[in-house]
Amino acid sequence: MSRPGTAGGQPGPQRAANRVSAPTVPAQAYAELAAGNRRFVSGIPRHPNQDAGHRAAVADGQHPFAVIVGCSDSRLAAEIIFDRGLGDLFVVRTAGHTTGPEVLGSVEYAVTVLGTPLVVVLGHDSCGAVQAARQSAATGTPPQGHLRAVVDAVLPSLRRAAAEGVDDIDGIIDIHIAQTVEALLGQSPVLADEVAQGRCAVVGMSYRLAAGEVRPVAAVPPATLDVPIDAGTPAA
Ligand SMILES: [Zn+2]
Repeated sequence: MSRPGTAGGQPGPQRAANRVSAPTVPAQAYAELAAGNRRFVSGIPRHPNQDAGHRAAVADGQHPFAVIVGCSDSRLAAEIIFDRGLGDLFVVRTAGHTTGPEVLGSVEYAVTVLGTPLVVVLGHDSCGAVQAARQSAATGTPPQGHLRAVVDAVLPSLRRAAAEGVDDIDGIIDIHIAQTVEALLGQSPVLADEVAQGRCAVVGMSYRLAAGEVRPVAAVPPATLDVPIDAGTPAA
C-alpha cells in the first residue's frame, strides 16, 4: 500500500469535492462496477486505465472508488470482471471472502485513509470454501491446518441457511455473501460509522463463473442499488 497523494499528503481535489458535495457517490461507484461488468459480459471490454500513461499518472497516489472483499478463487479476478484498471479497485481476497483482523484493517484503510466510497463483498457460485465448510459440517471432521479457520468462518452462514430452510448451494452462497456484509459492519465500527454518515456503502454481489455476470444480493443502505446503469459510461 502507498499513502494517498504522496506529493502533498492529501486526497486529490476531485475526491475531496466528491466527498463534500456528492452524497450519492457510493451509488455511483456501484453503477460504475455494474457498467464495467456489463462490458465484460458482453465480450467487448474497454480495459480502461491499463496503459503506460495511466500507470505513470497514478504512481504518486491512489484513489480507488471501490474496495473488493472477494473470494480468492482464480476465476474471480476483480479488475477483469469489472473491466477496470490500475488505481480503480482496492482488492482484498481470501478463500470464501472470510474476514479477520487483517481484512478488516485493509477495508478500514481504504475507506478512511483513501476515502473509498464503496465496499463490495464478492462471492460466486460453486465456491469451494463454502463447499468445504458444508462437507466439514456434514461429516463432523474439521480440515487440517489453517484451512480450519476458513471453514469456521463460513459455519455461521451454514447455520443461518439451515435456520431459513435453504439447502441448495447457490442459496447458501447468497446467504454467506449477505452474512459477510453484516459481519464487516458488525466487526468494524469504523466502517459502520462511515456507512451511517453516508460516506460509504457496503454491497454484496454474487458472480456466476460461466456467464461472468454479477448480481447484487445485499446492500447497506439498500438505496445504493437504485442508480441507472449505463454500460457506455466513459471509464474515468
Ligand atoms: Zn470461492
